[in-house]
Amino acid sequence: AKRQGKNNYQLYSHSKDIPSFKKYVLDRDMRNAINNEEFELFFQPQVEPSKGLLVGAEVLIRWHHPEWGDISPAEFIPLAEENHMINMIIDWEIEQICSLLNEWNRNNFPLYPVSINVSPIRFMKKGLVEYVAEQIKKYNVNPKYLELEITESSLLKTDNNVLTILKELKELGVKVSVDDFGTGYSSLDYLRNIKPDTIKIDKTFTQNINAQSEIDKGVISSVLFLGKRLGMKVVAEGVEEIEQLEFLKQNECDIIQGYLFSPPVPQSKYEKMIQVGYLK
Ligand code: C2E
Ligand code: CA
Ligand code: CA
Ligand code: CA
Repeated sequence: AKRQGKNNYQLYSHSKDIPSFKKYVLDRDMRNAINNEEFELFFQPQVEPSKGLLVGAEVLIRWHHPEWGDISPAEFIPLAEENHMINMIIDWEIEQICSLLNEWNRNNFPLYPVSINVSPIRFMKKGLVEYVAEQIKKYNVNPKYLELEITESSLLKTDNNVLTILKELKELGVKVSVDDFGTGYSSLDYLRNIKPDTIKIDKTFTQNINAQSEIDKGVISSVLFLGKRLGMKVVAEGVEEIEQLEFLKQNECDIIQGYLFSPPVPQSKYEKMIQVGYLK
């Protein structure tokens, strides 16, 4: 969230950089994109760094627009937050993933946790906890395989409800992860209230490791220490280079996500990774 005046935090990143005609078309077409099956879920594997063993994946959405081609989520998610289509998109993703976890289980695939990005807009709308509970039940999913990511910046919201909802989600057995950790200008006391299972170090920190940025390296090693001390898993995002991996290993980072191991891949490709169990 960006600061807007004194105590006023923006709920979403603005989509105003998109040319207005394109924005108009995307806004219009987004309403039918689920029914037209234009969304596809990609999976970015997460690995433990010493042997490259697979430990899970983050779901990242892709929109194949029939006329405009692939639209980046960085472009359409802010728009979906403005027109509130994000609520339907997230609910659709939750159901897709529960259904997939059920299918993997039936097909005797080894199960790994899957994390889904949940926008603060969805937390503000009623019924998230009930919806998740219903999907878990419908697809007979062990909730420990479902992780919901919320960005650190959205935890700043005036709304205290977010904390209550996160608590209720954890009571369901679902995992909670704080995304873009270190970029939210928030104080750390929310860690005490939420007790997230996972924190994800933002890629801006990871990517400054090789610039020999002592500040960034200091932040990373401190977050890793903090996570260990508080019993939370720490994921480093945006790992692209060996040098970054080496630094993270030295500082005992548990989980790596980034192009060095794999970009986000389609479901079929991720399923092959699951069957192999490791990435090199
Ligand atoms: P995010 O949650 O921080 O996701 C990580 C982004 O970093 C993804 O971009 C991913 O493809 C990219 N990435 C992964 N590894 C590397 C790397 O090694 N180097 C670099 N430079 N980038 C890497 P993507 O898929 O374009 O998504 C952008 C943002 O859009 C996400 O940031 C997330 O905030 C949002 N988003 C994506 N999919 C969804 C979704 O299904 N639901 C919601 N609510 N938001 C989504
Ligand atoms: Ca994320
Ligand atoms: Ca992130
Ligand atoms: Ca981000």
